[in-house]
Amino acid sequence: MKAIRRFTVRTVLPEPIAPLARLAKNLRWSWHLPTRELFAALNPELWEESRHDPLSLLGLISREELQGLAADPAVVKKVQAAAANLDKYLQEPRWYQSLGAEAPACIAYFSPEFGITEVLPQYSGGLGILAGDHLKSASDLGVPLVGVGLLYQAGYFKQSLSRDAWQQETYPILDPDNLPLTLLREEDGSAVQISLPLPNGRQLLAHIWRADVGRVPLLLLDSNVPGNDDAARGITDRLYGGGGDHRLQQELLLGMGGVKALRVYQRLTGTPAPEVFHTNEGHAGFLGIERIQELMATSGLNWAEALAAGRASTVFTTHTPVPAGIDRFDAEQIRHFFDAGLAPSVPVDSVLELGREDYEGGDPAVFNMAVMGLRLAQRANGVAKLHGVVSREMFAGLWPGFDHSEVPITSVTNGVHVPTWVDPRIGQLARENFGPDAEEYGRWDLAYNVSDEKLWSLRRELRVSLVEDVRRRLRSAWKKRGAADAELAWTDSVLDPDVLTIGFARRVPTYKRLTLMLRDPERLKALLLHPEHPIQLVIAGKSHPADDAGKKMIQDLVRFTDDPEVRHRIAFLPNYDIAMARTLFPGCDVWLNNPLRPLEACGTSGMKAAINGSLNLSVLDGWWDEMYDGENGWAIPTANNGASPEERDDIEASALYELLERNVAPRFYGTTVAEGAGAAGPSSGAREAVPTHWVSMIKHTLANLGPAVSADRMVQDYVQKLYQPAAISGRKTNASEFASAKDLAAWTTKVRGAWPQIHVEHVDSAGVSDEPQIGDTLTVNAYVALHDLAPEDVLVEVAYGRAEESDHITDASLAELGVAEDLGNGRYLFSGSVQIDRSGSFGYTVRVFPKNSALASKAELGLVTNA
Ligand SMILES: *Cc1c(COP(=O)(O)O)cnc(C)c1O
Repeated sequence: MKAIRRFTVRTVLPEPIAPLARLAKNLRWSWHLPTRELFAALNPELWEESRHDPLSLLGLISREELQGLAADPAVVKKVQAAAANLDKYLQEPRWYQSLGAEAPACIAYFSPEFGITEVLPQYSGGLGILAGDHLKSASDLGVPLVGVGLLYQAGYFKQSLSRDAWQQETYPILDPDNLPLTLLREEDGSAVQISLPLPNGRQLLAHIWRADVGRVPLLLLDSNVPGNDDAARGITDRLYGGGGDHRLQQELLLGMGGVKALRVYQRLTGTPAPEVFHTNEGHAGFLGIERIQELMATSGLNWAEALAAGRASTVFTTHTPVPAGIDRFDAEQIRHFFDAGLAPSVPVDSVLELGREDYEGGDPAVFNMAVMGLRLAQRANGVAKLHGVVSREMFAGLWPGFDHSEVPITSVTNGVHVPTWVDPRIGQLARENFGPDAEEYGRWDLAYNVSDEKLWSLRRELRVSLVEDVRRRLRSAWKKRGAADAELAWTDSVLDPDVLTIGFARRVPTYKRLTLMLRDPERLKALLLHPEHPIQLVIAGKSHPADDAGKKMIQDLVRFTDDPEVRHRIAFLPNYDIAMARTLFPGCDVWLNNPLRPLEACGTSGMKAAINGSLNLSVLDGWWDEMYDGENGWAIPTANNGASPEERDDIEASALYELLERNVAPRFYGTTVAEGAGAAGPSSGAREAVPTHWVSMIKHTLANLGPAVSADRMVQDYVQKLYQPAAISGRKTNASEFASAKDLAAWTTKVRGAWPQIHVEHVDSAGVSDEPQIGDTLTVNAYVALHDLAPEDVLVEVAYGRAEESDHITDASLAELGVAEDLGNGRYLFSGSVQIDRSGSFGYTVRVFPKNSALASKAELGLVTNA
């Protein structure tokens, strides 16, 4: 029978163990092993049944059993100790508390998805996991951050396979009352409700749920509320649901509704107003419009002034060099929604201008969320060094006249939250060998002090856990594909705990090339079945529901794995998620990544593998491009010589096979290939009990990548390079009733108006003879017409360095020229000298930029006049 109505009965915990409720609701348990162990010990069987979800565990334990636990002094003592430990964690000063007064009082972090734990499935892939790791490290470091996102009724889909290996999607509905969330309520107990006007007189209402991520509150907006019509209730139905209006309304709710939610939260809790707003990818960009709306409505600023004030304290992070990953809407669609009064004080045309692709190669009818993101934020970054380079190139159209290297987009390389992603057995090894604090203090260098044997046997243990998990998952996947138990005995012996295990798991957009390994199926087969050094592969990944090309790749791969000849050595596991990932990364010896360079912005799965002692085998893209050092893994060479996509796949696949055959597998098995013995060179045949070279690579990886890939390092970078400067800029623009925002806006308008008239009339130089030598001083004179601008409004700069044949200056050095003479009629002589510091061809040029101490970079306004 079916229930006609459903509601959730809240567990009432007996007083002595009442703190369990708090421990279950604060998601710190998801990365705090002792808390998880406490829950598991309450009832190990039900812990499994609850799928390691403390809240659901408490609901499963019977009343009598709870009474029993409450009467057990040992249990009560443990619960009290865990609660005290949580309270201490929530209150004690941490890294951020040592920063002093310049550090922002609060930072708002907006993201369309957050991947914190499998219990709260509000993520689709890397972007969400990164956001989750950002919040966790912020919490561990004591950064006063508030997260803002949406609560999706179904999150992202669950993946299964049909008999013929086609991806099937299901969207199980979540009940927020059963999740570790708290509904935000007004003082009178009613649910807090925020609202946005929609076209045709409709309204979009949303409730706000709070998740506690350690010290960091995460506010999630939910449109599934009684006051909404059906369409509005469905806006937060699933992650990145539908296209067009659906997606746009999600983003309006996230950005504009998110700021409103924050304001209510501030009012109810006394949390200080955020001094910095961080837009994690374009999807959340409308937060900037809502802030401008606030400023125009309440502080009497005009558009330009409010924009200047808002920009100063906004940070924008771009996450993808793949154009399809950037949201673009029809500009008229945006007008339609804003005409409904979403931001009544803001001129709609000004909003449209922010997202307009009004540069070469752009489509002016389109509203581009990344472009708006960049224009609404004074500071912007990509997520790895290489991605910074690629982003500066990609968005260079917004800064015409500038070299790509001058485009004001910096980079902060992503990281991973170590306590979430490191296998507990690695932490335990550290504690056993080096005492209880080794782990806490991030002493990764101690890896060198562990004996080879110990490390190698731990690696095997981790591999064994993975093999067991794969067998379990494979059997269940086959049952879903319609197989009977009798057909599935073979799944019990899939994979071998002593075979080199290679992992590959990620979303399945084309550029990640899930099926590159299948380029030459016979060669792959030979690797899998090699008599002396075989490999085995564990693969997982979800394709976007609308991406049939991705689903076809999964199908091709699964069909290969279905072959009885190889199926004991290669497995595809459906439904890649955080729970699977936590066994997969530690269990693999090698983590494989073969994207089309440079389309992987950063990639974080290889980082998670590295902190568990897996070695990376990857194309030099994203993070690996900057962190590969020759001893921490392998680089798959890239065919960047103008090869066609087909040729490129051939070349790179072949390089991958070659590396596996010649380097990776022999090293894993401790068999050495004689130097220079050629492709068919004989192996020495001798096999070490512990492969010393491999183990030394593991130690090197742990010691060096451990600290570098940690999300603590990432969050500290954000604080120091972006949040702190943004807070300082923000305070300046806001001081004395926005005096400086007003000045900056007026000055910007003046400079923009005058700029077309600025030009460098003439440049000459003196001081260098016909045969210049190193050490000579060159005096540069520039005659510049400034018309209505004053000399202090501009920076006149000489750029000099090696001149290529094309006259392009490479490795340019810069020097500012000073005003030497007022020539009248708005003309000035700027002058200065530079020392010739290199031999060979030398060139220089003079350029003029707007100059104002409130600008974060000289490229900020996108204005430059070249001589
Ligand atoms: C880390 C992770 C990702 C992102 O991995 P990339 O290497 O950035 O593609 C996606 N999904 C899950 C479950 C993860 O744990």
